[in-house]
Amino acid sequence: MSTPQYVAPESLEDALRIKSESGADARLVAGGTDLILRMRDRVFTPKLLLDLRRVPLTAISCTAGEMRIGSYATLSQILAHDEIANLFPALVEACRPFAGPPIRNRATIGGNIVNASPAADLVPPLMAYDANIVLSSISGDRELPLAEFFTGPGQTVIEPDEILTEVRLPLMPPDSAASFIKLGQRRSMAISIVNLCTRLSLAADGTVATARIVLGAVAPTPLRAVAAEAVLAGNDITTALLDEAAQQASRESMPISDVRASGSYRKRMTAVLVRRALSAAWGELGRNNSNG
Ligand SMILES: Cc1cc2nc3c(=O)[nH]c(=O)nc-3n(C[C@H](O)[C@H](O)[C@H](O)COP(=O)(O)OP(=O)(O)OC[C@H]3O[C@@H](n4cnc5c(N)ncnc54)[C@H](O)[C@@H]3O)c2cc1C
Repeated sequence: MSTPQYVAPESLEDALRIKSESGADARLVAGGTDLILRMRDRVFTPKLLLDLRRVPLTAISCTAGEMRIGSYATLSQILAHDEIANLFPALVEACRPFAGPPIRNRATIGGNIVNASPAADLVPPLMAYDANIVLSSISGDRELPLAEFFTGPGQTVIEPDEILTEVRLPLMPPDSAASFIKLGQRRSMAISIVNLCTRLSLAADGTVATARIVLGAVAPTPLRAVAAEAVLAGNDITTALLDEAAQQASRESMPISDVRASGSYRKRMTAVLVRRALSAAWGELGRNNSNG
């Protein structure tokens, strides 16, 4: 393998132009925590490494109706951000057991998404909060739901001339609560055996207006358990309803067996953990209501 060229442009315009000219021959470098391993294993053999460290893509801001997170924002930045902690606590929960501090200081939200691991820890909370992503090219920007981004392990709909520039999270309606759970072989520095996030948003009459159940590491891509969500939508929450939704989510999972766990264990744990996450979200809503 020949040594790739390295370029660190000063502006997004320059980066987009280089990406447009080089296409799939150019690989973005963000934190490099996935990329370097894939290059070592010859999964990727880029001719050009395009490092955007000089391009301002790390900003986090809350504007009318949404939170915007630059694709080069690191896990440590997200963990330290008070507004994200207040508005999107399940995203922060997913950052806590993520690797250790040295990796969290380098790893970015954009890298976690574009790497497209079925076990990526930030994706279930982002999808549970209905995140959109912005893909930029010299032709302009396109915004799409994160849920439509993944097509298979390591596979996405990103075009060779595109760069992921921003993640956008709509502000949640009142009476919303979400819960993230990660099951690994250890508490941290472990790839998830199952990870998931559930969100409940209640209508004024107390029924479920919106339910999100997003499963990781149990299918070729992060997976919304839409039939399980439908069990909850429009209904009053009862323990029996939560049980039913958890069982349905497990039926929707399609896990494989690998070195970390068997498929049947993952399926059983999906039911257990979805039930636990739904209970946590429901408990949170109860506390919010009794405070209000
Ligand atoms: C020791 C260790 C522990 C880890 N623990 C966890 C964990 O607990 N949970 C977890 O989910 N992951 C974990 N990972 C995996 C990895 O750290 C994360 O996926 C991380 O978020 C990747 O981000 P990065 O900035 O390092 O991406 P990079 O490695 O720089 O890039 C990853 C891929 O995305 C592409 N890319 C990056 N940014 C963009 C962009 N803006 N636009 C277009 N393409 C882009 C790159 O070209 C590359 O193909 C771990 C990795 C290591 C080495």
